[in-house]
Amino acid sequence: MSLTPLISSGHQPQEKDEAGLWQSVDELEAAVRESHLIIKDEPLNAYIETVVSRVLGEHASDVRVYIVRDPSFNATMAPNGMMIVHTGLLARMRNEAQLASVLGHEAGHYLRQHSLNRWRSRRGKTDVMAFVAVGAVVASGATGENWFDLANSINDALIYSIFSYDRAQESEADAFGLKLMWESKYSPSEAPAVWGQLIGEWKASADAREKRYRKRKKAATSTHPPAEERMDYLRNAADNLAKNGANNALIDNGRDRWIKAISPWRQEFLEEQVKLNDTGASLYLIESLAADGWDGVLRYFEGDAYRLRSEEDDQARAIKAYRDAIEYTDCPPEAFKFLGYALMKNGDADEGKLHLQRYLELKPDAEDAKMVQFSLDY
Ligand SMILES: [Zn+2]
Repeated sequence: MSLTPLISSGHQPQEKDEAGLWQSVDELEAAVRESHLIIKDEPLNAYIETVVSRVLGEHASDVRVYIVRDPSFNATMAPNGMMIVHTGLLARMRNEAQLASVLGHEAGHYLRQHSLNRWRSRRGKTDVMAFVAVGAVVASGATGENWFDLANSINDALIYSIFSYDRAQESEADAFGLKLMWESKYSPSEAPAVWGQLIGEWKASADAREKRYRKRKKAATSTHPPAEERMDYLRNAADNLAKNGANNALIDNGRDRWIKAISPWRQEFLEEQVKLNDTGASLYLIESLAADGWDGVLRYFEGDAYRLRSEEDDQARAIKAYRDAIEYTDCPPEAFKFLGYALMKNGDADEGKLHLQRYLELKPDAEDAKMVQFSLDY
């Protein structure tokens, strides 16, 4: 496996097929840039750029990261340097080094030209007819539910070639990402940690669903070998780096920088996840993040996860979580509202109304202020 970049910084397409690939994704990128799904917040994007710059070094200026609203865990890299990062991925990162591991992996796909190689292995160098003029299609498809609708509106086969890699390429990107992490002095052990958390979440999601429907004895997706293989590989490689490396003292995981950058967005990103009502996954995620310390936002969403599921005992669990949430200064005002309603439903109208009152004090201009006031007067 070679980990030497195949392109230098400032790379431009060399041959017709590569130019065709680039033209297609350039047009997709133009549509993505205009999409309402993109988070354009300057501080958040500037922060991500600093991480890209640290991880990619001289290649950083060739990569453009777009933060797309999508609660799923995903990031993708296009051959022209467009990188898409989902808000669901950002919601799951516990520190800057974890983000760096994803950026490094995606950079591996880009610098090792995986899309182009995959295209050539499927279509050959001469099949440039597949690149139809796609601008008009993109323009008319720019209102999709997610950015992948947009991508699919261009050309299914093309998009498949650009954004799906084979296993050997994924392994190479993993190794490449780890190398970049090491060189940029991020703790390599955060790369397998991302996978460990993801696998744990899949299992928790499957377990919760199984419990819910009481179908099979064992959840069908309880193991996911490729992901576990990748985690194991990364864990071994990270251990070896740590053992043999001389620059351990300089390594950090950037936890404080990460928390500072993500804090203004955490509530919104977690809300996207909790609204999916995949309670097993949501609670697993919340508890994973809380391993670094509980706060009002995490407790609030713990309450919300139970409230939205609303199975037996979930109301009591939600009440407990909301009660915990309101002890923190960073608690969202909505915790008081939902705590209030849950208590009223539970037959504790007096205390419930106190919390509704508090909600209105904290958020007098809330959209539902009139409705809440009505419940108070009732
Ligand atoms: Zn990949």
